Amino acid sequence: MPTPFQQRTLAFQSKERNVFFHILTACNLSCRHCYINPEQHGSITLPEETIVSWLKLFAAPDKKTNLILLGGEPTLHPALPTAITKARELGYQSITVDTNGYLHHNLLDKIHPTDAVLSFSLDGPCSEVNDPLRGPGVFKTCTENLAKAVALGFEVSVIYTVSALNITHLAAMPKLLKTLGVSHFFIQVIGLRGKSAGLTDRANPPLQISPEQWLDTVPQVAHAAAELGLHVIFPKVFLNPDEPFECAGLVAENFFIFPNGRVYCCPLCEDYPIHSYQIENNTLCLRSGLIEKNFFPISIPEGCIMNKLLQPGSLQYDENGHPCHRISCCLLKQEMARA
Ligand code: SF4
Ligand code: SF4
Repeated sequence: MPTPFQQRTLAFQSKERNVFFHILTACNLSCRHCYINPEQHGSITLPEETIVSWLKLFAAPDKKTNLILLGGEPTLHPALPTAITKARELGYQSITVDTNGYLHHNLLDKIHPTDAVLSFSLDGPCSEVNDPLRGPGVFKTCTENLAKAVALGFEVSVIYTVSALNITHLAAMPKLLKTLGVSHFFIQVIGLRGKSAGLTDRANPPLQISPEQWLDTVPQVAHAAAELGLHVIFPKVFLNPDEPFECAGLVAENFFIFPNGRVYCCPLCEDYPIHSYQIENNTLCLRSGLIEKNFFPISIPEGCIMNKLLQPGSLQYDENGHPCHRISCCLLKQEMARA
């Protein structure tokens, strides 16, 4: 009997581009694991004309280009609806707004449901789990605005960042998301960027989770969510022995643009001044010296070179010194959905 689910690894598409555009770094929240690093990413809010110029710079209508508008909190920027309209004119094929759920400047009244997908961040299935991570009252505001967006006909997804503080509550998410009318569920793993890379102590234990915790929890929850009809996307993290390792920095086109003009190809590098490109006078300039691109071709048995350099604690070795797992590119995703 055929399985009612499809699970597959989403291979990198050579003709597909992803443009992650941080239009500002300011935010109304102060999440415990915020990935914005003011020292590296600055505090600039891009003027509307610069947003439009940079959208033109990265437009490539001959390729499928997905645009993700983010911040900080992108809905704090009054020019967000204009950016969405311009991006559509410039031929970006899909447009997503990553929001913390506050939907400032009445975004729902200013764009049409077909203009953009709205991706809400929730880190718990209730305020008791979510709010200690994201702030008092955030769960209520986020879920109320999410429900409004669904009622208006927007396609809505939810991003859940799994950490040591909320992994045991992940299993309660599928039912909540089904009730709210969410279509896509993105499960992501806490990284070592921004605040989550900060010093830990007794009062602030590490947020990172072990490979066992991830493997024991995430695939099962993804399966349960797919059973309810949700489309689930989650990082591959551990490659099977027969799966090839590929670095997206070499085989795919991803741009992570920050308002200070830095452009990275690898999100793991965002806390370091090793960005590949700098936007200068609205031109994308390849940098010289020590940049992330120098690392991408380095082949190691552990898989991702930046993971080994930046998160060596995530690696485990057998008695012969061989890595127990190869770590995939952090941009390699798995998809689970009803067939
Ligand atoms: S909503 Fe996003 S940008 Fe704002 S504090 Fe939280 S993680 Fe940082
Ligand atoms: S996460 Fe690793 S494999 Fe992926 S782009 Fe960065 S360096 Fe390459």
